[in-house]
Amino acid sequence: MNFKKILNISPLALCIMPLLLLSSTFAQNRDEIKDEYKWNVNDIYSNWDEWQKGLEELEKKMNEITTLKGTLSQGPDQLLKASQMQDDLGVLSYKVYRYPQLTRDTDTRDQEVSSKLQQVQILFAKFGSATSWVNPEILQIPWDTMKMWLDDTPGLAPYRFGIEDLYRQQAHVLDEEKELLLSYNSQFNSTPSSIYSELSTSDIDFPTITLSDGEEIQVTNGNYSKVLATKRNQEDRKNTFEAHYGVFKDQENTYAAIYNAVCQRDWASARARNYGSSLEATLEGNNIPVAVYENLVNTVKANTEPLKKYQRLRKKVLGLEKYYSYDGSMPLTDFDKEYEYEDAKQWVIGSVEPLGADYQDKIKTAFSGGWLDVFENTGKRSGAYSANVYGVHPYMLLNYNKTLDNVFTLGHELGHTMHTLLANENQPFVTSSYTIFVAEVASTFNEALLLDYLLERTTDPKERISLLQQSIRAITGTFYFQTLLADFELQVHKLAEAGSPITADILSGIMEELYDTYYGDSYEKDEFLKVVWARIPHIYRTPFYVYQYATCFVSSAQLYKQVTEAESSEKEQLVDNYLNLLKSGGSNYPMKLLKKAGVDLTKPEAMMAVFDRMDDLVAQLEKEIELVK
Ligand SMILES: [Zn+2]
Repeated sequence: MNFKKILNISPLALCIMPLLLLSSTFAQNRDEIKDEYKWNVNDIYSNWDEWQKGLEELEKKMNEITTLKGTLSQGPDQLLKASQMQDDLGVLSYKVYRYPQLTRDTDTRDQEVSSKLQQVQILFAKFGSATSWVNPEILQIPWDTMKMWLDDTPGLAPYRFGIEDLYRQQAHVLDEEKELLLSYNSQFNSTPSSIYSELSTSDIDFPTITLSDGEEIQVTNGNYSKVLATKRNQEDRKNTFEAHYGVFKDQENTYAAIYNAVCQRDWASARARNYGSSLEATLEGNNIPVAVYENLVNTVKANTEPLKKYQRLRKKVLGLEKYYSYDGSMPLTDFDKEYEYEDAKQWVIGSVEPLGADYQDKIKTAFSGGWLDVFENTGKRSGAYSANVYGVHPYMLLNYNKTLDNVFTLGHELGHTMHTLLANENQPFVTSSYTIFVAEVASTFNEALLLDYLLERTTDPKERISLLQQSIRAITGTFYFQTLLADFELQVHKLAEAGSPITADILSGIMEELYDTYYGDSYEKDEFLKVVWARIPHIYRTPFYVYQYATCFVSSAQLYKQVTEAESSEKEQLVDNYLNLLKSGGSNYPMKLLKKAGVDLTKPEAMMAVFDRMDDLVAQLEKEIELVK
């Protein structure tokens, strides 16, 4: 039984995409966009009145559940009642939260909608305090009794995993009084990340610089990425990079103080709940062994050669005397084909054929049913995500503007959506949400399918180079770089645990060493780059989170290899194993589900599929480059 799950509704399906997307300057009005390209929030509630009723019902049900306080030990029927009530609340919470959240995301300027969303958030917080008694009360019931109830009460079957998991974590649940005390801190726990958000978004002031062609640009996140990916003049990239990073460098002491607060908070809550380290406390939730994290960090550190090789190749092809981090996004060829959304849609549908007709049909439904919000409009949130509404359907936000990147984002988000859909269809509510630990498996799997599908269909060497670069970037961005950050987080948290100081210089020093290990002499030394830790929101908002991009990538690469390289007699079984992983949702620990599908992340060998793929893609790229010479 996991009450926290209800409160943890994440606004996005945890995507790296927003970091990579370029923002376009020409947003249109929302009413100019055809309905077939907009999502339909009326599938959740037909209007605000209905939403208001839902909100009131949620509040009523929250009060109802408190009437069960003190009764859970009476017998399995009471426990079942509480569990089912919790499910009702959960399903309702999704709807009540998503309706204003999705609406806000299509027009972030709408203050009225924002305040409605806040209403929901306040209610959720109240719910946290009102239910702080539940877990301790369940745990008052001796395990032998509980086991008997679970064995003898068929209705409790869907809740078994959650309840067993609660007992597993018993050592870390405190008594009622202490839990209540900790719940008072729940708002305060998010303070470092809200200060970070204000400093790095609301209050940030990026300077304006003049590029070599006379164009003046403000070095915002969007323009920064755009210049790095489009301006052939290295001096332009250098100036943009330095102006952009300079803003973080100027406030590095404040950023360091915030990050210190994050690490101190993590260590304080780990100690409050009797964990040996902040990492252990974070991984314990999903029952992930600390060894998985350490295995990742150490194995990648020892296998950075394909990454260096790629950078050296880039340096040569771009004809640069000196190669810097800000040269890393520059395309290797001038290839700016525009990809129409309707084409991209057909490719995504075509590319998933190896996963069977049923999977393909479901993707078609996703495209036609008002699930997607495709194009950018004035006031719309940037980036891309897939968001679940259990009992309704998943929703996907895009800002499609015809780049190859956008084509892959489409495939990526559809992967999330299919995972959600298959889990929703095959699991009761309580075990439907899959953990973050497997969240990026389906999305990156679909990207790999899409790449191979497109490579098979084009003979244009320039397009092939673009495609290869696109997928190599996925590996450098979601695998290598995220592991580098994971390593950084671990090192700094260890400093906090040892009571050592955490200052801007110390953070930059750790970062410099990591860059040396990962990139060696394939990058020139750079004073500004070291402060990259100040501009990565994830490490402030959700510590020990980004490593999962890397472990998901590992899992996905291995599953992909299994499915695509299988003998035809085994193929069906291997596809089934993969789909069963998606259908399993959150019905067991992610390590167990992955193992069933054929992936063991405690072994260094698990990572070899990624190094091999990177090696292979770089070799293919080298060959294509020879052809266009
Ligand atoms: Zn994603």
